[in-house]
Amino acid sequence: MEMTWFITLSAGVFGLIFGSFANVCVHRIPLRLSVVTPGSRCPSCERAIVWYDNIPLLSWLFLSGKCRYCKTKISMRYPVLELLMGISWAGLAWHFGLSMMLLQALLLVSLLWVLTLIDLETGLLPNVLTFPGIGIGLMFAYGFGYLQDAVIGAVVGYGAFWIIARLFLLITGREGMGYGDFKLLAMLGAFMGWQALPFIVFVSSFVGAVVGSIILLVAKKHMRAEIPFGPYLAAAGMIWFLWGADILQWYTELIRV
Ligand SMILES: [Zn+2]
Repeated sequence: MEMTWFITLSAGVFGLIFGSFANVCVHRIPLRLSVVTPGSRCPSCERAIVWYDNIPLLSWLFLSGKCRYCKTKISMRYPVLELLMGISWAGLAWHFGLSMMLLQALLLVSLLWVLTLIDLETGLLPNVLTFPGIGIGLMFAYGFGYLQDAVIGAVVGYGAFWIIARLFLLITGREGMGYGDFKLLAMLGAFMGWQALPFIVFVSSFVGAVVGSIILLVAKKHMRAEIPFGPYLAAAGMIWFLWGADILQWYTELIRV
């Protein structure tokens, strides 16, 4: 029991620290900048951030969300992503314990958070994240012995969305999805096998349609902005990753009756 707590808390702390790096990725990857060099700097005055101003969560609170030098406001996204990453890593460590499954889960959830925030801020799902994601997914699938399901998942994931996007365009006359969405679904298929796809497509489309309609109703008519679809895919994918086996069992019992 103490061991579980120790692993969970450690994962939480490492998650916070990794969240800090994830923020750099969210900011720099869409700008095609290196995520390694130079070190963290204020996006406004470009002064290097010293280590004690770069402590996850705490520094943001101590500086009241402002740059120490130019006093420009630092986006809420920074502490929020650090917190989300910390909580996710802790939760996954609790769920999986110290195992290869945990490593797979941490890589998946980290990719999904970074992709989600980039999609929300820029409407992009960069290839430099989804392509390695597909590779990592297939690698674990090979290790766990379901490589065939994963390859089918990646191919069908891309193809299924391509068809759905075509139909959506024919029916509504507008683009509902970008090519980044196809690659993200391919990545989820590579991580979890093709069996995950019906659930992910159905849940993300349904929730996306409901939330999208509400946003369109609330927002002014002229604000017909593109609503990113990546976050719904990521959420549905994570639900399947954690509880897919239970959902599948529940479903097969349901149709047997
Ligand atoms: Zn500054």
